[in-house]
Amino acid sequence: MTNRIALLAAFVTLGCLGALGAAVAAPAETAATPKPQQPQSVPLSVELLRGGVYRVKGGSGANAGFIIGKKEVIVIDAKMTTESAQAMLAEVKKLTANPVRYVVLTHSDGDHVNGLGGFLPGLTIVAHENTKRDMEEAFKDPKLRALLPYLPNETFAGDRPLNIAGVRVKLLYFGPAHTSGDLVVYLPDQKIAFIGDLAFLGRDPLIHRQKGGTSFGLVQTLKKLLALDADTFISGHNDPLTKADIQALLTAIEEKQAKVKALIEQGKSLDEVKSAFGIVETPGPGGRRWPSLVETIYLDLTERR
Ligand SMILES: [Zn+2]
Repeated sequence: MTNRIALLAAFVTLGCLGALGAAVAAPAETAATPKPQQPQSVPLSVELLRGGVYRVKGGSGANAGFIIGKKEVIVIDAKMTTESAQAMLAEVKKLTANPVRYVVLTHSDGDHVNGLGGFLPGLTIVAHENTKRDMEEAFKDPKLRALLPYLPNETFAGDRPLNIAGVRVKLLYFGPAHTSGDLVVYLPDQKIAFIGDLAFLGRDPLIHRQKGGTSFGLVQTLKKLLALDADTFISGHNDPLTKADIQALLTAIEEKQAKVKALIEQGKSLDEVKSAFGIVETPGPGGRRWPSLVETIYLDLTERR
């Protein structure tokens, strides 16, 4: 992997960091929306959660994690650039001589997968089959073509219990939500779940309808998360979350869905629904537009797929 590719990858925000830059919300929500996280502004660091499970924050891209097993290391998500992935692997090396043999991807967004080029070849890259499909599509971009050797090589369609590196890992698939390939990496012994971008705090959740995501699927997924015997939820863009955080997010989405549904039943158009929520849209970087949760709900309720 060349530096050039890494630099290019850094500028291609296929995922959530790009979305964080777009203010698409009601004024009250805008006030509560944290400033976009600036890639590279915070140095990468690792934090021990418990039982050999670590969270990786800072650097470029979303939070990641790793689990030190008896003989091997499992990494969860790959950061957004080669440099950031290598910085993460350097931190792993400080803690264990065990090699990194597995990377589990929570979904296909660039801020979670574009750092794969920083890993050594010969990895087992585990993902839902829909995530692989989305990555194949994204890696057609000439700027990302160098990542083609890093497409997932172990994929599946449903849940998968794994016992890798002496660690009990349950890979759970609850159906389309943020994308159509969201995996929850559940560690029953540590009561920790890595949930990718299934939860955002302090802003509306982001749902990629173009990747098969759906707000109603997200509600179902959040309910399943609440049913897990876990007390710590590691998301891509927040500090560790609790069940109370997940419950609050679930309630907020359900309330919004009910309000949008009522407005549709009154015959309101999408523009009328948006203005009922006071939504003022501003284009994101490069004129990119990210629909608000209200628009996503409206489309979920009115468009057949
Ligand atoms: Zn994402």
